[in-house]
Amino acid sequence: MSAPILRGPADAGSGAADAAAAAAADAVWLADAVRLATENVAAGGGPFGAVIVRDGALVAVGQNRVTRDNDPTAHAEVTAIRAACSALADFSLAGATLYTSCEPCPLCVSAALWARVDRIVFAADRHDAARAGFDDLEFYELFARDRATWSTPVVSLRLEQSAEPFDAWLAEAARTHY
Ligand code: ZN
Repeated sequence: MSAPILRGPADAGSGAADAAAAAAADAVWLADAVRLATENVAAGGGPFGAVIVRDGALVAVGQNRVTRDNDPTAHAEVTAIRAACSALADFSLAGATLYTSCEPCPLCVSAALWARVDRIVFAADRHDAARAGFDDLEFYELFARDRATWSTPVVSLRLEQSAEPFDAWLAEAARTHY
């Protein structure tokens, strides 16, 4: 697995040209994500697309499949992450950039964190999504509130055996960390 390209103050001399080139490359990949999103609308799906890139090469793309697959978690970013991990036969996308047509919702930003992507770049934002009738903004506001105020109760029910799965995990010498 290759290391991400990091630019620090030490190489700031050629930094401006590098930064401009990186921004131009970002814009090209991001435009692909936006195009996938628009095409998905014509195909009867939601207006979201995503592209995953590593080392300057395309790894996978994703489009929103919620209504097609009856899968409320099939957001474009999740679909792209699943396809990328499948293509790489790896559960980590370290070193990769996720380009998405719209700011990732809490589900997708969490999925990207779990996937260990290096960067997320988005085009439209949560306010654009709200204008189109999507709940991204609402969910962000929900997460910012005390969970006790939610209309959907999230209930903690501590069982005697609640810790058993973690005890089993910690006792499993052959466990695969992720
Ligand atoms: Zn999402």
